Amino acid sequence: MKPTESLLNGILDEVRPLIGQGKVANYIPALAEVPANKLGIAVCYNDGEIIQAGDSQESFSIQSISKVLALTLAMALYEPDELWARVGKEPSGQAFNSMIQLELENGIPRNPFINPGAIVISDMLYSRLCAPQYRMLELVRELSCNPQIVYDKIVANSEMQHSDRNASIAYLMRSFGNFNNEVMPVLNNYFSYCALKMSCVDLARTFSYLANKGQPLGAKTPIISQTQSKHINALLATCGLYDGAGEFAYRVGMPGKSGVGGGIVAIVPGEMTIAVWSPELDQSGNSLVGTAALEKLSARIGRSIF
Ligand code: GLN
Repeated sequence: MKPTESLLNGILDEVRPLIGQGKVANYIPALAEVPANKLGIAVCYNDGEIIQAGDSQESFSIQSISKVLALTLAMALYEPDELWARVGKEPSGQAFNSMIQLELENGIPRNPFINPGAIVISDMLYSRLCAPQYRMLELVRELSCNPQIVYDKIVANSEMQHSDRNASIAYLMRSFGNFNNEVMPVLNNYFSYCALKMSCVDLARTFSYLANKGQPLGAKTPIISQTQSKHINALLATCGLYDGAGEFAYRVGMPGKSGVGGGIVAIVPGEMTIAVWSPELDQSGNSLVGTAALEKLSARIGRSIF
């Protein structure tokens, strides 16, 4: 069954009472200022039809959702064996900013969707692109069909000023030889990617290539192959929500990616892309109310990859 606007509004009304049970991210001071009661959802069908409810057109900080875009760019620039020599494909079972496995596993991050993995990918993009920030912006503007998308400089600067942990991760990887550039310029790019400001509608459009075998909305050619799209979806299903990936698979049953700005993107391959936004997070750093909304939507429309 196709969700209608009234179904989406009904789901938002059902989950709204959960606001207050999570916590807005405060380790990035600029994010702590976002009102906790924001709530939006957008569904983009593979034919381009959009259905939306709530604050679906308001932009927010996409944070770790950008890790999927960075991986997509890296897949186009590197051979698979070069890429997967530097980052793994396994769930970490640890917090997104954990360093514990890096020390034990020779500076090779478990997967591209935790901070260490995305920081390595940013290092790889820095090595092969002459203007990595510009390329990323160009990609999201193209995929979302929204030329207005920008980086939120206040959020990016706020992260730069509180970058001790991510810098430590990068230096530790460098000590193992898994980092090829100066740390701070690479982190500056990584923080900018995280600080992309997009709405649920932008996100649902942007990620529809993962629901459509690598083919972006309205484009004549795929940006990645069908096999690469399968690879990204598999990694999203196993690693996209960090140490909450199992719980998310159980409750929602879709490949997904969260960010500490409270956004989650979920993919129904072959059919649709969904984006939700609610700033309060659960203990794993995933949107608490956003997950609940996706769980209800998956049950109502009878969609899951499992
Ligand atoms: N920019 C955030 C960080 O590096 C991204 C984390 C997230 O969204 N989980 O900590």
